[in-house]
Amino acid sequence: MKPFSQDIIFFDTEFSSLDPCEGEILSIGMVKLSGEEFYIELEYDGEVSEWVKDNILHTLIAPKVSREEAQKQIKEFVGEGKPHIMAYVNQFDAIYTYKLFGIDNHPFHWLPIDFASMLFAHGKDPEMLVDLERACKEFGIDHTKYKQHHALDDAKVLRKIYLKLADQSSS
Ligand SMILES: [Mg+2]
Repeated sequence: MKPFSQDIIFFDTEFSSLDPCEGEILSIGMVKLSGEEFYIELEYDGEVSEWVKDNILHTLIAPKVSREEAQKQIKEFVGEGKPHIMAYVNQFDAIYTYKLFGIDNHPFHWLPIDFASMLFAHGKDPEMLVDLERACKEFGIDHTKYKQHHALDDAKVLRKIYLKLADQSSS
């Protein structure tokens, strides 16, 4: 694999619904290629889907910040360079981030990179990351360190797999 750029942020969000017209962002995890991390949970008191109730709400235990504060902190972490965000099932992460910032106001390169396509191009099942444990095992990563559906842990696993893919391609 010969990446186009090293200016990457591995990125994951959790949100209240799969319907982007109804849902809002609940948490964001980001990891730079260097390993530098950022995590935030947002204030939200609206409806959540049954799946989110069962799988996400109990994992959101950090202090909550306003949307304005979230925008400020994310911009500080990301910097001015418009890095490429790389996410799994990236259409949702992108759309909820655009909803948070507004379409022309987010600090990322406009075109998100789809992690599933990268797996596909390496001959790997693009669905494997639906099951974090399976994906970690496939790449020899200790899955017990990561809690699936926690935005920061999901972003960390993307970075780990990316580094393995880069390694495998260079050998
Ligand atoms: Mg996630």
